[in-house]
Amino acid sequence: MNFNMFKGIKEKINQIKSELPENVTLVAVSKTKPVADIQEAYDAGQRVFGENKIQEMVEKYDVLPKDIQWHMIGHLQRNKVKYMAHFVDLIHGVDSFKTLKEIDKQAKKHNRIINCLLQAHIAEEETKFGLSFSEIKEILASDELSELKNVNIIGLMGMATFTDNETQLKNEFLALKNLFDEIRNNDSNLTVLSMGMSGDYQIAIDCGSTMVRIGSSIFGSRNYIV
Ligand SMILES: *Cc1c(COP(=O)(O)O)cnc(C)c1O
Repeated sequence: MNFNMFKGIKEKINQIKSELPENVTLVAVSKTKPVADIQEAYDAGQRVFGENKIQEMVEKYDVLPKDIQWHMIGHLQRNKVKYMAHFVDLIHGVDSFKTLKEIDKQAKKHNRIINCLLQAHIAEEETKFGLSFSEIKEILASDELSELKNVNIIGLMGMATFTDNETQLKNEFLALKNLFDEIRNNDSNLTVLSMGMSGDYQIAIDCGSTMVRIGSSIFGSRNYIV
Protein backbone atom coordinates (compact mmCIF):
# COMPACT_ATOMS: atom_id res chain seq x y z
CA MET A 1 0.00 0.00 0.00
CA ASN A 2 1.25 3.48 -0.86
CA PHE A 3 0.83 5.53 2.30
CA ASN A 4 1.95 8.67 0.54
CA MET A 5 -1.47 8.89 -1.06
CA PHE A 6 -3.01 9.50 2.35
CA LYS A 7 -0.77 12.47 3.05
CA GLY A 8 -2.26 15.92 2.61
CA ILE A 9 -0.99 18.60 0.27
CA LYS A 10 0.59 20.44 3.17
CA GLU A 11 2.63 17.45 4.30
CA LYS A 12 3.80 16.74 0.76
CA ILE A 13 4.87 20.35 0.21
CA ASN A 14 6.72 20.45 3.49
CA GLN A 15 8.46 17.16 2.72
CA ILE A 16 9.59 18.26 -0.75
CA LYS A 17 10.72 21.65 0.54
CA SER A 18 12.80 20.03 3.24
CA GLU A 19 14.63 18.06 0.54
CA LEU A 20 15.37 21.00 -1.75
CA PRO A 21 18.68 22.86 -1.54
CA GLU A 22 18.32 26.49 -0.48
CA ASN A 23 19.01 27.90 -3.95
CA VAL A 24 16.28 25.83 -5.65
CA THR A 25 12.81 27.39 -6.10
CA LEU A 26 9.75 25.15 -5.94
CA VAL A 27 7.04 25.83 -8.51
CA ALA A 28 3.89 23.96 -7.42
CA VAL A 29 2.23 22.87 -10.66
CA SER A 30 -1.50 23.15 -10.07
CA LYS A 31 -2.85 22.62 -13.60
CA THR A 32 -6.25 20.85 -13.66
CA LYS A 33 -6.44 21.09 -9.85
CA PRO A 34 -9.21 22.97 -8.04
CA VAL A 35 -8.78 26.31 -6.29
CA ALA A 36 -9.26 24.60 -2.90
CA ASP A 37 -6.10 22.55 -3.47
CA ILE A 38 -4.11 25.67 -4.32
CA GLN A 39 -5.47 27.41 -1.24
CA GLU A 40 -4.32 24.47 0.88
CA ALA A 41 -0.81 24.74 -0.58
CA TYR A 42 -0.93 28.52 -0.06
CA ASP A 43 -1.89 28.02 3.59
CA ALA A 44 1.16 25.78 3.91
CA GLY A 45 3.29 28.74 2.82
CA GLN A 46 3.66 28.03 -0.90
CA ARG A 47 3.57 31.18 -3.05
CA VAL A 48 4.81 30.10 -6.50
CA PHE A 49 2.37 28.19 -8.69
CA GLY A 50 2.63 26.94 -12.26
CA GLU A 51 -0.13 26.49 -14.82
CA ASN A 52 0.03 25.41 -18.45
CA LYS A 53 -3.15 26.99 -19.83
CA ILE A 54 -3.52 30.76 -19.84
CA GLN A 55 -7.28 30.78 -19.39
CA GLU A 56 -7.17 28.42 -16.42
CA MET A 57 -4.41 30.49 -14.81
CA VAL A 58 -6.43 33.71 -15.24
CA GLU A 59 -9.52 32.15 -13.63
CA LYS A 60 -7.44 31.02 -10.63
CA TYR A 61 -5.60 34.35 -10.38
CA ASP A 62 -8.93 36.16 -10.16
CA VAL A 63 -10.14 34.30 -7.06
CA LEU A 64 -6.93 33.51 -5.16
CA PRO A 65 -4.70 35.72 -2.93
CA LYS A 66 -2.86 38.37 -4.90
CA ASP A 67 0.58 37.66 -3.47
CA ILE A 68 0.77 34.40 -5.43
CA GLN A 69 3.46 34.40 -8.12
CA TRP A 70 1.97 32.79 -11.22
CA HIS A 71 4.28 30.99 -13.63
CA MET A 72 3.14 30.03 -17.12
CA ILE A 73 4.91 26.74 -17.86
CA GLY A 74 3.00 25.52 -20.90
CA HIS A 75 3.29 26.07 -24.61
CA LEU A 76 2.13 29.60 -25.41
CA GLN A 77 -0.60 30.59 -27.78
CA ARG A 78 0.45 34.04 -28.88
CA ASN A 79 -3.10 35.39 -29.17
CA LYS A 80 -3.70 34.64 -25.47
CA VAL A 81 -0.63 36.34 -24.00
CA LYS A 82 -2.69 39.52 -23.53
CA TYR A 83 -4.92 37.84 -20.94
CA MET A 84 -2.08 37.25 -18.47
CA ALA A 85 0.19 40.21 -19.21
CA HIS A 86 -1.07 42.20 -16.21
CA PHE A 87 -0.03 39.64 -13.60
CA VAL A 88 2.15 36.76 -14.84
CA ASP A 89 5.40 36.57 -12.85
CA LEU A 90 7.51 34.30 -15.08
CA ILE A 91 6.90 32.69 -18.48
CA HIS A 92 8.89 29.44 -18.82
CA GLY A 93 7.95 28.24 -22.27
CA VAL A 94 9.15 30.91 -24.70
CA ASP A 95 10.22 29.12 -27.86
CA SER A 96 10.24 31.75 -30.59
CA PHE A 97 11.27 35.34 -31.16
CA LYS A 98 7.74 36.09 -32.38
CA THR A 99 6.36 35.08 -28.99
CA LEU A 100 8.90 37.29 -27.21
CA LYS A 101 7.76 40.21 -29.34
CA GLU A 102 4.13 39.60 -28.43
CA ILE A 103 4.98 39.36 -24.71
CA ASP A 104 6.92 42.63 -25.01
CA LYS A 105 3.99 44.34 -26.72
CA GLN A 106 1.47 43.21 -24.11
CA ALA A 107 3.81 43.97 -21.18
CA LYS A 108 4.24 47.50 -22.49
CA LYS A 109 0.48 48.11 -22.32
CA HIS A 110 0.61 47.42 -18.60
CA ASN A 111 3.85 49.25 -18.02
CA ARG A 112 5.51 46.04 -16.89
CA ILE A 113 8.69 44.14 -17.61
CA ILE A 114 7.87 40.44 -17.85
CA ASN A 115 10.48 37.87 -16.91
CA CYS A 116 10.90 35.01 -19.39
CA LEU A 117 12.84 31.78 -19.82
CA LEU A 118 13.80 30.41 -23.22
CA GLN A 119 12.69 26.81 -23.58
CA ALA A 120 15.37 24.52 -24.95
CA HIS A 121 14.65 21.26 -26.73
CA ILE A 122 16.58 18.62 -24.80
CA ALA A 123 14.34 15.52 -25.05
CA GLU A 124 14.65 12.95 -27.77
CA GLU A 125 10.90 13.05 -28.43
CA GLU A 126 9.95 15.13 -31.45
CA THR A 127 6.79 16.32 -29.76
CA LYS A 128 8.35 18.42 -27.01
CA PHE A 129 8.54 22.08 -27.83
CA GLY A 130 11.66 24.12 -27.59
CA LEU A 131 14.50 25.91 -29.32
CA SER A 132 17.76 24.35 -30.43
CA PHE A 133 20.87 25.49 -28.56
CA SER A 134 22.03 27.51 -31.57
CA GLU A 135 18.64 29.24 -31.86
CA ILE A 136 18.88 30.22 -28.19
CA LYS A 137 22.32 31.74 -28.68
CA GLU A 138 21.11 33.54 -31.78
CA ILE A 139 18.15 35.11 -29.96
CA LEU A 140 20.26 36.19 -27.00
CA ALA A 141 22.84 37.82 -29.26
CA SER A 142 20.39 39.53 -31.59
CA ASP A 143 20.01 43.29 -31.92
CA GLU A 144 16.24 42.85 -32.12
CA LEU A 145 16.22 41.49 -28.58
CA SER A 146 17.79 44.64 -27.19
CA GLU A 147 14.87 46.57 -28.68
CA LEU A 148 12.37 44.63 -26.58
CA LYS A 149 12.45 46.77 -23.46
CA ASN A 150 9.54 45.06 -21.70
CA VAL A 151 10.82 41.50 -21.62
CA ASN A 152 13.66 40.28 -19.47
CA ILE A 153 15.18 36.89 -20.24
CA ILE A 154 16.40 35.56 -16.91
CA GLY A 155 17.18 31.94 -17.77
CA LEU A 156 16.49 28.69 -19.56
CA MET A 157 13.94 25.91 -19.22
CA GLY A 158 13.92 22.33 -20.44
CA MET A 159 11.91 19.13 -20.24
CA ALA A 160 13.74 15.81 -20.38
CA THR A 161 12.55 12.72 -22.18
CA PHE A 162 9.81 10.77 -20.40
CA THR A 163 11.94 7.82 -19.32
CA ASP A 164 13.30 6.20 -16.19
CA ASN A 165 16.71 5.78 -17.79
CA GLU A 166 18.75 7.85 -15.34
CA THR A 167 21.79 8.08 -17.59
CA GLN A 168 19.73 9.57 -20.38
CA LEU A 169 18.01 12.04 -18.03
CA LYS A 170 21.37 13.09 -16.65
CA ASN A 171 22.82 13.60 -20.12
CA GLU A 172 19.90 15.76 -21.20
CA PHE A 173 19.96 17.90 -18.06
CA LEU A 174 23.75 18.28 -18.17
CA ALA A 175 23.62 19.39 -21.79
CA LEU A 176 21.29 22.22 -20.79
CA LYS A 177 23.37 23.08 -17.74
CA ASN A 178 26.47 23.35 -19.97
CA LEU A 179 24.68 25.71 -22.33
CA PHE A 180 23.47 27.75 -19.34
CA ASP A 181 27.02 28.07 -17.99
CA GLU A 182 28.42 28.92 -21.41
CA ILE A 183 25.91 31.73 -21.94
CA ARG A 184 26.35 33.00 -18.40
CA ASN A 185 30.03 33.59 -19.07
CA ASN A 186 29.09 36.77 -20.91
CA ASP A 187 25.48 37.36 -19.81
CA SER A 188 25.10 37.58 -16.06
CA ASN A 189 21.38 38.30 -16.49
CA LEU A 190 20.78 34.55 -16.68
CA THR A 191 20.17 33.22 -13.19
CA VAL A 192 17.36 30.67 -13.53
CA LEU A 193 17.67 27.11 -14.82
CA SER A 194 14.20 25.54 -14.75
CA MET A 195 14.41 21.77 -15.03
CA GLY A 196 12.95 18.83 -13.14
CA MET A 197 9.43 17.52 -12.54
CA SER A 198 7.94 14.97 -10.09
CA GLY A 199 9.68 12.02 -11.71
CA ASP A 200 13.13 13.49 -12.26
CA TYR A 201 13.68 16.54 -10.05
CA GLN A 202 16.33 14.95 -7.83
CA ILE A 203 18.44 14.20 -10.90
CA ALA A 204 17.79 17.68 -12.28
CA ILE A 205 19.00 19.26 -9.04
CA ASP A 206 22.15 17.14 -9.10
CA CYS A 207 22.70 18.52 -12.61
CA GLY A 208 22.40 22.16 -11.53
CA SER A 209 18.69 23.02 -11.65
CA THR A 210 17.67 26.16 -9.73
CA MET A 211 13.91 25.77 -10.23
CA VAL A 212 11.81 22.60 -10.16
CA ARG A 213 8.23 22.31 -11.45
CA ILE A 214 6.42 19.73 -9.37
CA GLY A 215 2.76 18.78 -9.80
CA SER A 216 1.65 15.23 -9.12
CA SER A 217 4.00 14.66 -6.17
CA ILE A 218 2.20 17.52 -4.40
CA PHE A 219 -1.38 17.43 -5.66
CA GLY A 220 -1.72 13.78 -6.70
CA SER A 221 -2.13 12.44 -10.21
CA ARG A 222 -4.18 14.44 -12.70
CA ASN A 223 -7.48 13.27 -14.07
CA TYR A 224 -7.75 14.67 -17.58
CA ILE A 225 -11.24 13.24 -18.09
CA VAL A 226 -12.81 15.80 -15.73
C1 LIG B 1 2.72 19.30 -15.90
C2 LIG B 1 4.06 19.88 -15.99
C3 LIG B 1 4.98 19.73 -14.93
C4 LIG B 1 4.70 18.94 -13.66
O1 LIG B 1 4.58 17.57 -13.93
P1 LIG B 1 4.53 16.48 -12.74
O2 LIG B 1 5.08 15.27 -13.38
O3 LIG B 1 3.11 16.35 -12.36
O4 LIG B 1 5.36 16.98 -11.64
C5 LIG B 1 6.22 20.34 -15.07
N1 LIG B 1 6.54 21.06 -16.16
C6 LIG B 1 5.68 21.22 -17.18
C7 LIG B 1 6.11 22.04 -18.35
C8 LIG B 1 4.42 20.64 -17.14
O5 LIG B 1 3.58 20.82 -18.16
